[in-house]
Amino acid sequence: MNVSRDSRPASAASPGELPAPTASPPQGAVPAGVRSVRLTELRGAGVRPRPLDARALAALAANPGCRRRALLDGAGVDKAALARALGAPAAYGQSQFAIMRGHAFEARVKADGGTELLRLLHERLAPGSEPPAPDAVATPDLSAAGPEGRAARTALALRAATEAGDWALLDHPMLAVEVAGSPAYVEPDAVVVHPDGSWTVVEIKSFPMIDGSADAAKVGAAARQAAVYVLALEPVAGHVAARTGRTVRVRDRALLVCPKDFSNLPTAAVVDVRKQLATTRRQLARLTRVEEIAAALPADTTFDLRLADDGRTATRPAEELAEAVEAVDAAYAPECLAACELAFHCRTRSRQQGAVEALGRGVRGELGGLRTVEEVLAAAAEPAAAPGEPEGPEGPDDPAVLALRRAAALRAEALAGAAVPPPRTEEPGCH
Ligand code: SF4
Repeated sequence: MNVSRDSRPASAASPGELPAPTASPPQGAVPAGVRSVRLTELRGAGVRPRPLDARALAALAANPGCRRRALLDGAGVDKAALARALGAPAAYGQSQFAIMRGHAFEARVKADGGTELLRLLHERLAPGSEPPAPDAVATPDLSAAGPEGRAARTALALRAATEAGDWALLDHPMLAVEVAGSPAYVEPDAVVVHPDGSWTVVEIKSFPMIDGSADAAKVGAAARQAAVYVLALEPVAGHVAARTGRTVRVRDRALLVCPKDFSNLPTAAVVDVRKQLATTRRQLARLTRVEEIAAALPADTTFDLRLADDGRTATRPAEELAEAVEAVDAAYAPECLAACELAFHCRTRSRQQGAVEALGRGVRGELGGLRTVEEVLAAAAEPAAAPGEPEGPEGPDDPAVLALRRAAALRAEALAGAAVPPPRTEEPGCH
């Protein structure tokens, strides 16, 4: 599921190859060269852009109000290294053991030309059709230089397989998707082409499926990733349909393959990604364009860590980096802790500012116009106005203020013992 980012257009594919389609630049967009220079400045001269993955894209789409993440991801800044340099390293991610176990499981699922994978897919998604013969599944070579070359090769392979009208298994195809005005390249575990011209995204995960069900949060995350892949496949499908004259459909039901129970035998389930697809599409479209965010920053803003010769140690003072990071608005929510490398830094800042967002989106919504913990406590402590007295801006009509005052009064009563009944001398019926 690796993803690469490149500021060059996908149309730079080799002559004769089908270019990987990306969204055309909107009117008034900053020229690619100018954008590329500014993004390089933000990252630091000579620093390679950090690849994203579909998980990160899904997380980005889940928090479209965060300009900070949009800019850092758009510029390809290594957020994990930045968090370390800020003194707030991320505390999530897979262990090396889990990664190796995942790779071994994926290799097993795809062994023998994907025979078992195709059997599972046919069983779950096309039970009434002719099953694919083991030697009749095309497994095109997708190797090419760079992400653009691989995306172009993938588009060619999808076109050839769709034209042929047979089963085909594309192992780690490369797809282009536009994120906040910058093209990014995502890599699903597999895409299967059906004889009817439809395409299915396959996600292979190492978490177990026990008695046919798996951890809902993990399945949800897999569905959001699959939605990113479906989104990236759609323009390719449009391209292939125009060139082949066939009806090409990207299925909105992905195949999730996991270890069965506590074994390492594969099993699969169909995951409906329509909801995630609609959400991701809407959220990615709403993301502010990276160059707009960059243009609003002081001209000398950069997230360059100024790495030492070992390529790992940041020599730039943490205060300077923090200043650069704070120059971009963030939208912290507790969900960031499971999705963004900067979460500990942003949480600390959010708490220092007393922002109610740090308490969660649900609480934030309940508190209406109250933006800080200080405002909330002040509203709760304010005695109710006497009849005829004017109220403040958050007057008695504000249900959040009324609820806070009621809660504060109940708490005061409870602490004063007024609401606590006197202890019983004898429990009735208890001897
Ligand atoms: S942790 Fe910070 S940068 Fe990351 S998404 Fe949350 S608010 Fe944005």
